[in-house]
Amino acid sequence: MSRIAFIGLGNMGGPMAGNLLQAGHEVTVFDLVPEAVATLTDAGAKSADSAVAAAAGAEVVITMLPAGHHVRSVYMDGGGLLDNVSDDTLLVDCSTIAAEDARAVAEAARERGIAFVDAPVSGGVAGAKAGTLTFICGGDAQAVENARPVLEVMGKAVFHAGPSGAGQVGKMCNNMLLAVLMIGTSEALNLAEAHGLDPAVLSEVMKASSGSNWALQVYNPYPGVMEGAPASNGYRPGFMVDLMAKDLGLAMNMATATGTATPLGSVARNLYTTHSTHGNGQRDFSSILQFLKGGDFE
Ligand code: NAD
Repeated sequence: MSRIAFIGLGNMGGPMAGNLLQAGHEVTVFDLVPEAVATLTDAGAKSADSAVAAAAGAEVVITMLPAGHHVRSVYMDGGGLLDNVSDDTLLVDCSTIAAEDARAVAEAARERGIAFVDAPVSGGVAGAKAGTLTFICGGDAQAVENARPVLEVMGKAVFHAGPSGAGQVGKMCNNMLLAVLMIGTSEALNLAEAHGLDPAVLSEVMKASSGSNWALQVYNPYPGVMEGAPASNGYRPGFMVDLMAKDLGLAMNMATATGTATPLGSVARNLYTTHSTHGNGQRDFSSILQFLKGGDFE
């Protein structure tokens, strides 16, 4: 069993840390939100007053934070993790951030002789709870192998995509596709309803047809069609609109940097950003269906 520090206990990090505890690991947690910490200490975790304090004596440190500036700050600010952990500590960041942010942290870690893996995840909150996430890893092959036993407690698949930053590149491409699929699925269900076809019936038809995709299979955006999906729970996240807009912005930065055409990704970014500016940033990203309907959530 390993001594693990887990920092960032939100929609994803909370259940991921919970699975490590259930598997018998010794987990010390830190989050800025006391309620998030309390959920984990109730489940048997130790808590600490800071990220650095949580990491003291840990063999593996896992971070699951909202965005790149949080990750840079926790690792690289003076007095942050990189200045305080020993060089036999394995650092694993599961947040979705820009590849260049991941490379910057990895490089700063390398200068200190510390291994750092970028390991963003796919699978959503349901996957985090069930321990069925996919980890897309960037970093040295040996560091990824060292992280594998711990990651496999929280996930069903661990890919080594390439060197530092490659995990984030893979994650951004996946999420750009996910956004396009969610918008397309919402358009189809909304169009069906406008023509008198029950969205629940169409969902079953499309799941067995060429339009089948992840949104239809496990994350239906139409309220009441799929029990347990955010759409059937007032669009409580899940995966927030603001986080999807962030990922699409990162994907567009990647496209601009290489002059790569991503026309649907660009439309998706604009739709999600507009949806957010209409006061929906904290809703689940499947609420884009309601945006197509004119934004009436009542
Ligand atoms: P969240 O906002 O629910 O959780 C983030 C947590 O980090 C919060 O509890 C916050 O208090 C904490 N935090 C922020 N700054 C901190 C700091 N300096 N020290 C300690 N804790 C700090 O977000 P989430 O949905 O759990 O997503 C986390 C990451 O995972 C994001 O990068 C997101 O893009 C990615 N992701 C989310 C999903 C999803 O379905 N929610 C799926 C895949 C990937």
